[in-house]
Amino acid sequence: MPQIIDGKAISTQIKDELKSRVEALKAQGVSVCLAVIQVGSDPASSVYVGNKKKACAYVGIKSLAYELPEETTQEELLALVRELNGRKEVNGILVQLPLPAHIDEDAVIRAIDPAKDVDGFHPQSVGALCIGQPGFVSCTPAGIIQLLKRSGIEIAGRECVVIGRSNIVGKPMALLLLQENGTVTVAHSKTRHLKEVARRADILVVAVGKPKMITREYVKEGAVVIDVGIHRSAENKLCGDVDYDDVAPLCSAITPVPGGVGPMTIAMLMNNCVEAAAAR
Ligand code: NDP
Repeated sequence: MPQIIDGKAISTQIKDELKSRVEALKAQGVSVCLAVIQVGSDPASSVYVGNKKKACAYVGIKSLAYELPEETTQEELLALVRELNGRKEVNGILVQLPLPAHIDEDAVIRAIDPAKDVDGFHPQSVGALCIGQPGFVSCTPAGIIQLLKRSGIEIAGRECVVIGRSNIVGKPMALLLLQENGTVTVAHSKTRHLKEVARRADILVVAVGKPKMITREYVKEGAVVIDVGIHRSAENKLCGDVDYDDVAPLCSAITPVPGGVGPMTIAMLMNNCVEAAAAR
């Protein structure tokens, strides 16, 4: 039987540690505050924003919610970001993606002060990660490193294959695994012989955005499998990019969906907010 990596329990452990840090910061007169901006009312985004607010309340972080109408202009949004950049009591700024099509997401991300870029999407944060300097790291891949470490899974020296090369998951994931001394391969939609490449992995991280694409043919016996995907079926059931029932019997450890990577993303967002406040 594989080790089921319990993201819910590990994320709660992290949030409880953060709660103590927030209390200690408060005792020194430092409060932690996250501003969350949502433009429009995409239902999935509203669920994510709601979960972030709940996590803030749990950890003791003050959250400011800006719910802007769909027709907000880019200039109006940039003006709000600039205003929040200038407000001392705001430690973190998060703009919920995706934004409506008439707004240039890159321009908005670039406008966030890198010292408040708790999502880790600003080019300065990404550049710092690339050259191993301090900076905010994208929450999902940072959470996966925590899942591995806190589950006692060694990364150094092991073959790590990341399937997916998005800016928010695949690329930072590969850089973090490299930083932990893994031997890293990044696969994507143009990769030839994907099954053979994936089967090299001691640690396989899957972020392809295709429900249940990864079956046992992609997995070496004894591998650790981390499933980043989240999909909701017509019957309202959640599944990942990995066909869990097919793959699990072959693995040494695996993350379930739900309850694996998902809860870690928010825990690491809370961590970045606390780091931002502590650094000030
Ligand atoms: P993107 O769609 O941005 O990226 C998908 C990547 O997978 C691309 O690099 C693409 O390659 C690659 N890919 C697509 N099809 C194939 C294929 N058939 N074979 C090999 N590679 C393929 O997705 P994200 O990285 O944003 O997200 C991935 C998944 O993770 C989604 O299901 C998303 O919902 C989920 N997610 C979950 C989070 C969580 O908190 N648990 C957070 C963020 C995302 P190419 O570059 O060549 O197009």
